Amino acid sequence: MECLRCKEEMFNAKLCGDAYGTGLFLRSKKKGMFEMAKDSTVSCYVCPECGYVELKADEPKKIRVN
Ligand SMILES: [Zn+2]
Repeated sequence: MECLRCKEEMFNAKLCGDAYGTGLFLRSKKKGMFEMAKDSTVSCYVCPECGYVELKADEPKKIRVN
């Protein structure tokens, strides 16, 4: 994946929200109590040149609700 701004090759990094280093994930859920919530992990890419960060859902189809 290349940077949208300066076309540098971006590298993969882990974006962490807490001290445990679990990383981020996306969650979607239909309305209604009996529907299971759906999760997808998120990949994070960083441009070494300008620092632009891009996030990408690993399994977008899995968490799509409609
Ligand atoms: Zn860049």
